[in-house]
Amino acid sequence: MKASQFFISTLKEAPADAEVVSHQLMTRAGLIKKLGAGIYSYMPMGLRVVRKVEAIVREEMNRAGAVELTMPVVQPAELWQETGRFDKMGPEMMRIRDRHGRDFVIQPTSEEVVTDIARQELRSYKQLPKNFYQIQTKFRDERRPRFGLMRGREFTMKDAYSFDRDQASAKASYQVMAGAYRRIFDRFGLTYRAVAADSGAIGGDLSEEFQVIAATGEDAIVYCPHSDYAANIEKAEALAPTGPRPAATQALAKVSTPGQSTCPDVAALLGVPLATTVKSLVLATDETNEAGEITKSQVWLLLLRGDHDMNEIKVAKVPGLDKGFRFATVAEVEQHFGCKPGYLGPLNLCQPVNLVVDRDVAVMADWICGANEPDFHTTGVNWGRDLPEPTVVADLRNVVAGDLSPDGQGELAIERGIEVGHVFYLGTKYSQAMNATFLAEDGKPAFFEMGCYGIGITRLPAAAIEQSHDERGIIWPDAIAPFTVVLCPITPDRFPAVKEAADALYAQLLAEGIDVILDDRGERPGAMFADWELIGVPHRITIGDRGLKEGQVEYQHRRDSAATKVATADILAHLK
Ligand code: ATP
Ligand code: MG
Ligand code: MG
Ligand code: MG
Repeated sequence: MKASQFFISTLKEAPADAEVVSHQLMTRAGLIKKLGAGIYSYMPMGLRVVRKVEAIVREEMNRAGAVELTMPVVQPAELWQETGRFDKMGPEMMRIRDRHGRDFVIQPTSEEVVTDIARQELRSYKQLPKNFYQIQTKFRDERRPRFGLMRGREFTMKDAYSFDRDQASAKASYQVMAGAYRRIFDRFGLTYRAVAADSGAIGGDLSEEFQVIAATGEDAIVYCPHSDYAANIEKAEALAPTGPRPAATQALAKVSTPGQSTCPDVAALLGVPLATTVKSLVLATDETNEAGEITKSQVWLLLLRGDHDMNEIKVAKVPGLDKGFRFATVAEVEQHFGCKPGYLGPLNLCQPVNLVVDRDVAVMADWICGANEPDFHTTGVNWGRDLPEPTVVADLRNVVAGDLSPDGQGELAIERGIEVGHVFYLGTKYSQAMNATFLAEDGKPAFFEMGCYGIGITRLPAAAIEQSHDERGIIWPDAIAPFTVVLCPITPDRFPAVKEAADALYAQLLAEGIDVILDDRGERPGAMFADWELIGVPHRITIGDRGLKEGQVEYQHRRDSAATKVATADILAHLK
C-alpha cells in the first residue's frame, strides 16, 4: 500500500469525551470516527485492524471445526417471543417496527435464530455435533456507551453456538472452544487471563471469561499467583466461605475490592492521579433486574480506613434507618440530608469505585457524588454533616487481595480486566423453550445440548491499546497492526536515489508477502514519524541519502528509543 493512495487522518488533540487512552488514540490515529453515542465508522486504518482480528478468529474457529454462516441483523420478534426474551431483554435490546406494524429486533446476540436453524436443519444425531458461528454486527442499546469501541452500541461480535446430542458431548464441545479461545488470544500477543464466570441459572461451572489485563478495565478479576485459580469477582464472591451474598452486598464487594479510583473526572476534581488508593469513599448504585432495568436506586455510605481491610469496613449508618445497617434508598438519603427530592439525581455507581473522597472532605461538606461518568456527578452534597460515628458491620465480608485462595495454594491477588471473550455452556435452555429437537439414536426426539461463545471483535483493538501504548501513541502487536512495516523515505523529491531505493525495497517486501506501507506523501520527517508513532506500526524502516551512500537504512521497532543502522542488503533478514 502506498500512503498517497491510502487514507490517513491524524489529530493532535483527542476529543473531549474520550476518557480512556484507547479511545483517545484510536480517534487521534484516525482509526475510528464517531457518528453518534456508541456508534462509530471504522475508518480505513481502523478497518485493517478489525479485519486482522477477524482473520485470526476465523482461522482458529475453522481449525476448531466450527462452520461460518451469517444470520440476519434484523430478526422477527416471534422467535424472541418463543423464548420469552422479547419481553425479558429490556431496553438494551433495540426493537423496530416495519410498515405493517410487525415487531423486529436488532440482534444483540443470536441464540433464537441459530436454534431456529438447528431445529429445521439438524434432524438426526448423525449430524451432531455442529458448531455454527458468525462474525457480525450486534446492537445493544447500552445505558452508558463509552470508551469508544470498548463499550459501543453497534459493534462486531464473533458469536458461535454449539449443538450436541448429550451433556458429555456438549461439555467436550465447550472445551474445544475454550481451547480455541486460548489459541486466539495467544496469537493476539496480549496479556490475558481466562477466569471462571458465573453460569447463572444454568448452574455448573462451565462459563469462562477471557479478560485482557488493563488498569482501565471495567471488571475485577481474582486469581492466585501460585495456582490456576482465577475467577471474576462475582464468581469469587459466590464461592467465598460466607457463600453468596444478597445482590446489593455483592455489588458492594465489587466496588470495594480495588480501593482505587478508576474514574478520571473524579480523580481530576480531587487532583489525584488515576488509580490512587483512597481512604474513604461514598458509593451509590442501582439495582437492576435481569433485563437491565433499574428497579431501585440506592445510596450507600462507606467510610474505609487503613488499607481497606474489608473486615474493618465502617459503614456510616443513616440515623432513622433503625435495626442496624441497611441500604438506604436515594429518596431516604435525600430526605435525611435535607436535599430537594431528585437532588442526588439518577445515581448509578456500578463501577468498581465510583466516588472517591478523603475523610477530611467529609466534614468539610461539598462532596462529589454520583456515577462513574462525567455527566452524572453531583457536587456540593453535604454528606458529612451530622453523620454518627461509623458503625462496624461485622458480617460484611469480602474477597480481598491477600485472602487464601479457595484451592488453598496461596494468597489471592486482584487486578482489573477487559472482557474480550466469553464461553458458556447453555444446556437445553433454548432448545426446550423453542422445542428444538433431533432424532436420537433410540429413534426418539431429544433436545439439543447447547453452548454459546462470544468474542468482542471491535472491543479487542481497544483492549490491545489499553495494554500497549506510550506517550507517542499506539504500539500494535504484529498480529493486528494495520500495517506491519512502514517505509519512510527522507525527502525523496530531492534525492532520486532515496526514492529509487524506497520503491525497490517496497516491491521486495511486497513480494515477500509483508504487509508494508510506503509513506510517499512527501511529509517532512518529523511529521511523518509522529504520524506512524501515533498509528503504532511496529516496524519502521527509514531510508535517507546519507545512509544509502554507506549502503545502509535505519530500522526502529516502535518500542525502541533509537534507530539501528542495518545494511540495505540485510534488512529483510533483520525483519524476520
Ligand atoms: P459486558 O460485561 O462488557 O457488558 P457482556 O458480558 O454483556 O459484556 P457477552 O454477552 O458475553 O457480553 O458478549 C460476548 C462479547 O461481546 C463480550 O465478551 C465482549 O467482548 C463483547 N461485547 C459485549 N458488549 C459489548 C459492547 N457494548 N461493545 C463492544 N463489545 C462488546
Ligand atoms: Mg453487557
Ligand atoms: Mg460481562
Ligand atoms: Mg459476557
